[in-house]
Amino acid sequence: MALKFEKTAYLRSAASAGDFLRDSLPQIAFAGRSNVGKSSVINTLAGRKNLAYVGASPGKTSQINYFTVDGKAYLVDLPGYGYAKVSKAERERWGLLMESYLHDEAGLITLGVLIVDARHRPSADDVTMHTWFRETGCREIVVANKADKLKPRETDAAMALIRETLGMAPDEVLLPFSAEKGTGRGQLAVLLDESC
Ligand code: GDP
Repeated sequence: MALKFEKTAYLRSAASAGDFLRDSLPQIAFAGRSNVGKSSVINTLAGRKNLAYVGASPGKTSQINYFTVDGKAYLVDLPGYGYAKVSKAERERWGLLMESYLHDEAGLITLGVLIVDARHRPSADDVTMHTWFRETGCREIVVANKADKLKPRETDAAMALIRETLGMAPDEVLLPFSAEKGTGRGQLAVLLDESC
C-alpha cells in the first residue's frame, strides 16, 4: 500500500509544546537544511504546488507545520536549519522546539524523514539531525533530493558518500529523489505508508 495523498491539507502551526498535536494518528516528521527542498518534497508528495510554502523566509525557522493526509497520518514539517542569517536567539528557539518535539514524553514522532542534498556530503547539521532522529528510536528514511542534478553515472558514488557520512547501516533506506521531476515519489509514498 502507499499513502494516497488524495486529501492533504494544512492543519496548524506550533511554536511550542502546548500547540503540538497529541492524538493517535502517526506523525511523519520531515527535517532538512534550509533550501534543500523540504517544502518541494512535501508539495510533490501531495501533488500540490503550494501546500508547504516554497522559499519560506529565514525568519520562519521557529515553527512546526502540520498537514493531514487522507485523515490517516500527519506530515510534520519541522523548521529548517542552517540559515546563514539567523540570530543566536532564533537558533536557540529552534533548538528548544526541536528538542521538545523529538523528546516529548508522549513519543509523538512515528517516522523521521531526513532530506539531504543528493549532490553533497551531508553537513555537520545533517549528521546532528540524523542522530536526533535515531535517538527517538523511530525508523528513519533519508531522502536524497535534487537527484536530477546528478548525472546517472555519478549517482552511486553520491549515495555512498551520504551513507558513509551519516553512518547508515545497509538496511537503512536512502532514496534518491527529485521533487522537481517527481522521481522517487511513488517509492516514498509506499515507505511512508509502512509507518502508519
Ligand atoms: P526548503 O527551504 O527546504 O523548503 O526548500 P524549497 O522547497 O523552498 O526549495 C529550495 C529551492 O530548491 C527552490 O528553488 C526549489 O525550486 C529547488 N528545488 C527543490 N527541489 C528540487 C529538486 O528536486 N531538483 C531541483 N533541481 N531543484 C529543486
